[in-house]
Amino acid sequence: MSSMFELDSKYKEVINDCNELANAVEPYSLKADESSVLYEPILQALQNSGLSSLMVPHEYGGRFHSVDPLAVCLARERFMRTSSHLDSLFALQGIGSYAISMAGSEEQKEKWLPAVSKSEALAALALTEPVAGSDLKGITTTVDRKGNELILNGAKSFISNAGVAAFYTTLAREGDGYSLFLVPGDSEGLSSTPSPEIIAPHVLGDLEFNDVVLNESSRLGEPGAAFRHVLATLSVFRISVAGAALGVMEGALREAVKHCSNREQFGRPLAKHGPVATLLADSWADLESSRYLTYQTASLASVDPGKNLDRSSLAKLAATEAATRVVDRCVQTMGRWGLIRGSKIEKFYRQARPMRVYEGASEVLRLGITARLMSEYKDES
Ligand SMILES: Cc1cc2nc3c(=O)[nH]c(=O)nc-3n(C[C@H](O)[C@H](O)[C@H](O)COP(=O)(O)OP(=O)(O)OC[C@H]3O[C@@H](n4cnc5c(N)ncnc54)[C@H](O)[C@@H]3O)c2cc1C
Repeated sequence: MSSMFELDSKYKEVINDCNELANAVEPYSLKADESSVLYEPILQALQNSGLSSLMVPHEYGGRFHSVDPLAVCLARERFMRTSSHLDSLFALQGIGSYAISMAGSEEQKEKWLPAVSKSEALAALALTEPVAGSDLKGITTTVDRKGNELILNGAKSFISNAGVAAFYTTLAREGDGYSLFLVPGDSEGLSSTPSPEIIAPHVLGDLEFNDVVLNESSRLGEPGAAFRHVLATLSVFRISVAGAALGVMEGALREAVKHCSNREQFGRPLAKHGPVATLLADSWADLESSRYLTYQTASLASVDPGKNLDRSSLAKLAATEAATRVVDRCVQTMGRWGLIRGSKIEKFYRQARPMRVYEGASEVLRLGITARLMSEYKDES
């Protein structure tokens, strides 16, 4: 984090605390990042750090008045540089609980948010289904009323923290609309199985809801208002994926720089060969330009997340696409040493890839970004 971007002291304190946690997990981070099941030492370290308090409002145990997108970005950047497992556990505490912070009842907030802030209750957001990914309006999970009860049936897939979450913020069809529900992990009729293992291991599972009994107090927000709360979650957390992409870029670039200053070919260090220098310089340019855009966008989102969703999409698109370019170049500068299975650089190479798919695939984001571009430029002409 050698950026020239000037940060307030409260953010510098966040970075210091995150550095401490990341350094503490460094010795076992490669092992943790190969795990598709919860790696307990990482969870314990996160719990001991108290840093999940960045994910809930102050009133319910949070560090700041409300969830601060810039603080979350800075944390994810630092965590991802060391461990994707840590990054994911941390990020999910916010992604899974934000609808409670925004739209939950007082009872729901008091029951869940203090436990989320201490990482004692792990959170999850269950939107994706076997048939519905980018097109969430195609979901088939449904809630039907029976007397005073609401009965949930359906299936979700590729849900982070499935199987270990204390609750699932769950999107379901209700009549002609879509509603959100808080489904406790130990609900009768809810079961989970691991999802197929992906190239960058992640705690992922599929869920089945078989006649899960809910009631009015299980709702998050009003009936039919699910997408408002899902969009609010994305406004705050999509930008944080850009933060995580910065961590991947910096981690990969540090590995490449170390290698290119130590290894000599043709009588000089690799970094002194023009084409290799170009790969490194272009990568640093990608990292720093993504960093400015990410921090700037996260600062705007800290003031008004909803208004800045398209800007968050823009930063996520730019930083995650840049991360793929950067890790590929870094691998290239390291020659055969870039290709070693289980090495840090190989890990970053795999970790960069899924970021262009989740929390809005690049192609889908481009549609919203272009619509915003057309309207902004039209308004100004
Ligand atoms: C590591 C990981 C963690 C995840 N965690 C969660 C989670 O916690 N909760 C959850 O609900 N989901 C989660 N997901 C699922 C994720 O949100 C979806 O993978 C994502 O929304 C894309 O959906 P899809 O994979 O079904 O791709 P599809 O929607 O089938 O799209 C495939 C490709 O088609 C293109 N495409 C699709 N629609 C359009 C369009 N309109 N215009 C142009 N191109 C288009 C894009 O290139 C896209 O990549 C996770 C996924 C991964 C990989």
